[in-house]
Amino acid sequence: MSKTDRSQFSFEFFPPRTAAGEAKLDEVHAELAQLKPDFFSVTYGAGGSTKEGTRQIVLRYTELGSTVAPHLSFGGLDEDELQRLLQSYKEKGISRIVALRGDMPSGMGAASQHRYANELVEFIRRVTGDYFHIDVACYPEVHPQSATYKADVDFFKRKVDAGANSAITQYFYNADAYFRFVEYCASREISIPIVPGIMPITNYANLARFSANCGAEIPQWLEHRLSTFGDDAEGLRNFGIDVVTRLCEQLLAGGAPGLHFYSMNLAKSVTQIWNNLSLSDRR
Ligand code: FAD
Repeated sequence: MSKTDRSQFSFEFFPPRTAAGEAKLDEVHAELAQLKPDFFSVTYGAGGSTKEGTRQIVLRYTELGSTVAPHLSFGGLDEDELQRLLQSYKEKGISRIVALRGDMPSGMGAASQHRYANELVEFIRRVTGDYFHIDVACYPEVHPQSATYKADVDFFKRKVDAGANSAITQYFYNADAYFRFVEYCASREISIPIVPGIMPITNYANLARFSANCGAEIPQWLEHRLSTFGDDAEGLRNFGIDVVTRLCEQLLAGGAPGLHFYSMNLAKSVTQIWNNLSLSDRR
């Protein structure tokens, strides 16, 4: 970690599209803030569609006293706009950024602004020096557009060499995928902290759809078990909490330098997992 060697625990939000969603997220933020995570992060639409939404949420929760890291990508912005956005974050005392290529929304056609994340890290370092702590994404089960495992890690290494301070993984349900990935990265002289991204299981259909898109594997045994819950949302959620708690226990016992929870703007499951792991005692 850049400023401290202790484990880091964080929650991710996405900018809601409606006023009702925002009001709900304010409640979720207030609830999760009580757990005193190291930071919250807020996702960013690669087409620039949520630029304002991301900025507003980031500034609002920063003003409320939370440490908040905006996600950022080139999508839809030119270098001047991006530099202004970085400057505005800096002026508000925001010092952590999650730098991504992002996923192109359908309809972006030629993807004229398509820039890889290593280029974004280089750009941030060029225009703001060492000011920001930069997180990047990485993929223990390989990014779906990478030809090979090695190529995927080569591209990850470019982001590290460009100046990333730490990484957050795509979610996974197989601890070995993470441990093998960290080992392989170490053999390639990647020494930044690699924090597992943790996706709670709250809705089987949504999880299956996300996972198919982002290349995260749902192990067959888990898929079978999840499919048995049918309309029993409460049963599925409780089972999901148990599975994900055990995954987190394995990861922390094996030396993971923290956990980043994809909250999906919901407090219940992540709070339960946090409490099961007694993470407040590790603060
Ligand atoms: P990159 O590191 O640029 O990699 C993209 C792909 O291109 C990979 O297959 C890589 O191997 C390959 N590649 C990299 N460099 C090169 C090169 N020079 N030449 C050829 N191929 C190359 N998406 C959003 O839209 N908004 C978000 O806020 C967001 N937050 C995320 C947070 C986390 C922690 C994670 C894990 C993912 C997030 N995503 C988000 C999804 C992410 O944007 C996608 O996975 C995206 O497809 C890749 O982003 P990246 O930053 O890893 O891209």
